[in-house]
Amino acid sequence: TSVFASVPEAPQDPILGLNELFREDPSPHKVNLGVGAYRTDENRPYVLGVVKRIEQEMAADTATVHEYLPIEGWPEFRRLSAHLVFGADAPALREERVVTLQSLSGTGSLRVVAEFLAHFYRPGTVCCIPQPTWGNHKNIFPRAGLPVREYRYYDDANRGLDYDGMVEDLEAAPTGSIVVLHACAHNPTGADPDMQQWQGVLEVVRRRRHFPLFDCAYQGFASGSFERDAAAIRLFAAATPPLEMAVTQSFAKNMGLYGERVGALHVVCAEAAVTRAVMSQLKQVARAMYSSPPGHGAAIVTRVLRDPALFAEWETEVQVMSGRIMRMRRELHQALQENGTPGNWGHVLTQIGMFSFTGLSASQCLYLRERYYIYMTSNGRISMAGLTSDKVRYLADAMKDAVL
Ligand code: PMP
Repeated sequence: TSVFASVPEAPQDPILGLNELFREDPSPHKVNLGVGAYRTDENRPYVLGVVKRIEQEMAADTATVHEYLPIEGWPEFRRLSAHLVFGADAPALREERVVTLQSLSGTGSLRVVAEFLAHFYRPGTVCCIPQPTWGNHKNIFPRAGLPVREYRYYDDANRGLDYDGMVEDLEAAPTGSIVVLHACAHNPTGADPDMQQWQGVLEVVRRRRHFPLFDCAYQGFASGSFERDAAAIRLFAAATPPLEMAVTQSFAKNMGLYGERVGALHVVCAEAAVTRAVMSQLKQVARAMYSSPPGHGAAIVTRVLRDPALFAEWETEVQVMSGRIMRMRRELHQALQENGTPGNWGHVLTQIGMFSFTGLSASQCLYLRERYYIYMTSNGRISMAGLTSDKVRYLADAMKDAVL
């Protein structure tokens, strides 16, 4: 018998498990609104034009090599990705208070910072995460040694941000807690604080001496503007006196480099004097976890970020992607009105980012899958990026049937 005979089978990942079910479904009507990857209106994965061209150049370039990267990643990638998040002239960058480590997309960056904080931030700290949040937060932090606790974030009845609940819970959290914030396009709810509310969150965080950790997975994807989608981070990073915080940055969505695992972790310190030691410890974590980050995707991103013409082209492509998502919101909202689906569906229009948090119940979601082959997570989240024009009416009619 096996030494693993008593290993219990872990539950499937709710999002990736859904993909497997979808793949196995033979129905020609099936629609995958589960996973958060962009699809074109022809329902195909999208490689950005600028990425494709750079890859062709790299393939033709005889100087392209596949050496190891430094543990902390490529210097130019690190510098330019920090510029994208904070703005090139951010005081924290000018004052050399930011430590940047290239890491494995958003998830790897979160895991590295979680391990670092578990070792070097206050012992016994809890990590406050929004309720609801991206499901993997609940895996990443406890596995790195940081217990999580939820703060109120979403008001189901009003289908919007529960700002008062959020602020109350952050006020009541133990002094110096780590507070996970979605930089923009909150996943799964699509509800973000406005700038005045962010200012309020900043004030509580400061008063309670919490440590903000911004998860930035959708910069540019929410509004089409890199600046606007980074506004909350920049507000916090520019606070005086300086606030210590971290940002985990992913290039999966905004550059369509999901599988290449390109991202960075930025730790903003109160003073430049500590950055050397912080960097040295982040490298220790990365060295033991995966040794050094992958190079291919980071090389592509670096070329885009350093060349103004390529950058402008990228920005246009991001606007095309976010524009298609917004168009799907309008079309779905209109179809739900036209077919007379009961209820108020205004939130489909106003939510931000890739997802719509429909408010459909778990049993309604299951009904949609079994009766209509429409796949979505059981919390009622649908990926607007996975919806295509030819499926809008089918989805709206199925939703009407599910809620009736
Ligand atoms: N944070 C949030 C909120 C996300 O939605 C995602 C992607 N689904 C990630 C982090 C990480 O994605 P990746 O590791 O692919 O960059």
